Amino acid sequence: MRPKVYISSKVSDEVKAYLDQYCECEMWQNPERAITGQELAEQIGDAEGLIAAGNAISERLLSAAPKLRAVSNISVGYNHNDLDAMKKRGIIGTHTPYVLDDTVADLTLALMLAAARRVTELHNLVRGGGWQRGVGEQLFGLDVHHAKLGIIGMGRIGEKIAKRAKFGFDMEVSYYNRSRKPDTEERLGVNYLPLNDVLEQSDFIVLMTPLTAETKHMIGEEQFNRMKRSAIFINVSRGETVDEAALIETLRSKRIYAAGLDVYEKEPVSPDNPLLQLDNVVTLPHIGSATKKTRDDMAMLAARNLVDALYGREPQYVIPELKN
Ligand code: NAP
Repeated sequence: MRPKVYISSKVSDEVKAYLDQYCECEMWQNPERAITGQELAEQIGDAEGLIAAGNAISERLLSAAPKLRAVSNISVGYNHNDLDAMKKRGIIGTHTPYVLDDTVADLTLALMLAAARRVTELHNLVRGGGWQRGVGEQLFGLDVHHAKLGIIGMGRIGEKIAKRAKFGFDMEVSYYNRSRKPDTEERLGVNYLPLNDVLEQSDFIVLMTPLTAETKHMIGEEQFNRMKRSAIFINVSRGETVDEAALIETLRSKRIYAAGLDVYEKEPVSPDNPLLQLDNVVTLPHIGSATKKTRDDMAMLAARNLVDALYGREPQYVIPELKN
């Protein structure tokens, strides 16, 4: 008998057809909104596999799914997975690294450019009929080319950002990472620096670590106070890697020049979050990997990971902490 699988968000026809060959699938049917945790717990029933798109994989969800054997995340980050609970139940967990690296790096550069060249402010000015003569100096921005970039978290995506910055924009790239990357240093000509030096010396600071117990609120008041007044801070990692209250205060008081954000402590971001009122912030709705092709590639990889797990083969991308 084919294993039962629940798919928690809409996937392409191609991905669905692939899964249908091997599994008996049920899929969340409402394209208008994401499934809630409660709804997922109600619908998962006796599924042996789950294709998850950012859903919290909690003890509560797992206890509602007694037959579950594998969770396949359509994301590279897995901070929303309770790894201890999954380990305890022997559940295989997988994720989708590599296929999204270039897309997320592109988006990071878009945020850097938009924040530095004040793209959203100027877009709003033109749309609002405010372009009368020339634009005044108060709306001039900062150069990206030849500036100093500091990347915190030089992993798969960090490297792609470094490559674009170094070879596309002639930037001087430094990085801080848990472990040093001599290969990357040699290949891309980037320098390792201690965290405080990255914070103090960089014109652009990009945060690209996963969210873990160690990286939660890694950037807060003390770290913002070390940055140059002209610094631009970009967060494409996870919202909770930053102390958002400290970020708001830093931007409000113009302690740094600007920020570009794809992620927030609470998502979707609340309409009364002060970040949405500040001119020196470019905000995006967690869309780092969201191009049609990349999302389809991620979903297909997640589908293959799941089928392999359910058929007793080693999936290509098991979550490292869940590997035997
Ligand atoms: P990765 O290849 O695992 O890279 C993460 C890097 O962070 C690694 O080099 C790691 O160091 C480093 N790191 C981990 N903990 C650290 C710490 N405490 N201090 C300093 N460095 C630390 O992951 P990736 O594929 O580049 O993705 C990174 C994260 O980006 C994901 O986990 C996800 O949260 C986020 N992301 C967001 C979006 C979006 O849509 N906004 C899209 C994709 C990914 P080691 O080399 O020592 O392990």
